[in-house]
Amino acid sequence: MHRRPRRPTVPLAAAGLVTAGLVLAGCQGGTGTPGTVDVLASFYPLQLVSERVGGDHVRVQSLTPPGAEPHDVELSPAQVAKLSSADLVVYLSGFQAAVDDAVEQTGPQDVLDAADVVDLEPAHEDEHDGEEHTADDGHEHGDLDPHFWLDPTRLAAVVPAVEQRLAALDPEHASEFAANAAELTRELTALDEEYAAGLRTCEQRTFVTSHAAFGYLAERYDLEQVAISGVDPEAEPSPARLAEVEREVREQGVTTIFFETLVSPKVAQTLAADLGVRTAVLDPIEGVTEEGSDYFSVARDNLEALRVALSCS
Ligand SMILES: [Zn+2]
Repeated sequence: MHRRPRRPTVPLAAAGLVTAGLVLAGCQGGTGTPGTVDVLASFYPLQLVSERVGGDHVRVQSLTPPGAEPHDVELSPAQVAKLSSADLVVYLSGFQAAVDDAVEQTGPQDVLDAADVVDLEPAHEDEHDGEEHTADDGHEHGDLDPHFWLDPTRLAAVVPAVEQRLAALDPEHASEFAANAAELTRELTALDEEYAAGLRTCEQRTFVTSHAAFGYLAERYDLEQVAISGVDPEAEPSPARLAEVEREVREQGVTTIFFETLVSPKVAQTLAADLGVRTAVLDPIEGVTEEGSDYFSVARDNLEALRVALSCS
């Protein structure tokens, strides 16, 4: 693992030219405030973990702008350049093709791939749109479902990995990172317990979503996800897939078709109107759109929406 020398705590001018030269060579490209670790996260849930674990000693930027749908994010040359200047890049391989390419091209100083620390599973066949994946569908590991963060216990698996990387980059603050990580883990555990309790007793266990983002959530809480599109939100569902979803809605007595905040709700709304059922928002937490909301508040809104749709007691 790359260990960057500690940044100087005295002004460079006072340290002498030779020392300054060595120090600059040691943290080449570092753009942040001295004493601050610069982290580049590829999308929101990884940004959240980096921010919460890093606290005051870390500056976190996200490659996916707030309110943008991350799957098909495109990176400007300036954003790609940020990968080589960041002290740590946190991303998820196989999720955002542009980020995978940028990591490969730039060879960042230190990289944490969430896919190495989270147990990812194949996307379930019945959540695909029934068509073969094409080579350019943006999922190179293509057959693994990327949406692990919707199961709080899987997101918690990233926490100690981020903590270890930050502690290696900034050993002076290791105990703070450890305390922050413990607190975040505690909150994720509490959220998991709320979900388990809230979804324990429900009249229905099948829910219909726009894209197949909720497979890990469904698995964790013993629900059944029926997704109109596959794991890629931009994929148009085939007529055969729509007919299959309609059949599930009728057979299971589904009351609600969920749509998302970051992709067009048109297909979900048309289907719901045709079937005479309600629509509601279920947010894949791939980005946060509202001021003041975060992973936890959106996850709790999702829980409430599921409890209503599934008639949970
Ligand atoms: Zn997604």
